[in-house]
Amino acid sequence: MNLDSVVKYHFAKSTQINDSPRGTSSDTLTGTDVMAAMGMCQSRAPLGYSAFLGKMEISDNDKKRAVQLLTQYGMSKCDKVAALRKLDSNVKAKVVQTLAKFAFKDYSRSAAGVERCECCRGSGFLSEKRSTGKRYCTVYNKGHGPVGDAETDAKIEEVKVICKKCNGKGVVSVACCKCNGRGEAVHREETERQGVPVKRPCKQCLGRGYERIPTTKALQSVSAIAPSLTLDIWKRGVKPFYEDLIAQLEREESFAETQLKRVTSNIAED
Ligand SMILES: [Zn+2]
Ligand SMILES: [Zn+2]
Repeated sequence: MNLDSVVKYHFAKSTQINDSPRGTSSDTLTGTDVMAAMGMCQSRAPLGYSAFLGKMEISDNDKKRAVQLLTQYGMSKCDKVAALRKLDSNVKAKVVQTLAKFAFKDYSRSAAGVERCECCRGSGFLSEKRSTGKRYCTVYNKGHGPVGDAETDAKIEEVKVICKKCNGKGVVSVACCKCNGRGEAVHREETERQGVPVKRPCKQCLGRGYERIPTTKALQSVSAIAPSLTLDIWKRGVKPFYEDLIAQLEREESFAETQLKRVTSNIAED
């Protein structure tokens, strides 16, 4: 049993009334076995387990728990970075928590496939101010020059227009624009040389298939909390720290995967 089957199990449970997970997880495991395995995996690998379930939109609680546990991990490491060590403890905690939130969002991207359109804030519409009616015009009295503005019925109206960036959907794809999310690209020279299609990881996304959240967005948020964190300082110490938080989620997920496999193979043997 792997983490993907946990997700299938959760979806099966919410769509079926009976409590039979057979066919959705391992055939040798009963519903009770599956529940036990998930419980054990959660206690052995809490961060990776919650992170994965949160990423797969199983529950908001898992998302919150993942961010909370990642913040704890970050707090235990942040004093290695001078710029973070120097911060007041409450500011430091806020900065680390903000970075943990961004890291979780970045980690979840590959699964979600889409993200909220920033242009319209997810609503799909933008409001545009338009003036309607006549425009002001200056009235001239013969021989006396301008005497004032004419009465007009010009109004400024707010109208809703469809957001062009997301085409009204409120979400935009996070797939890499170079490889369309495939993560690989045709190696043109090698393909010509060998006469068969040769593929290599996409250079734009390094084979991930989706665009990362620009790290400058994380910087903007933390520098609003701690103005001492400038771009220069960010690049030198804080950015690597932030990237380690993302990597930690990946590491913890694969740790949870290993634990789950171990637990379920033990149960199956019993
Ligand atoms: Zn939009
Ligand atoms: Zn790509």
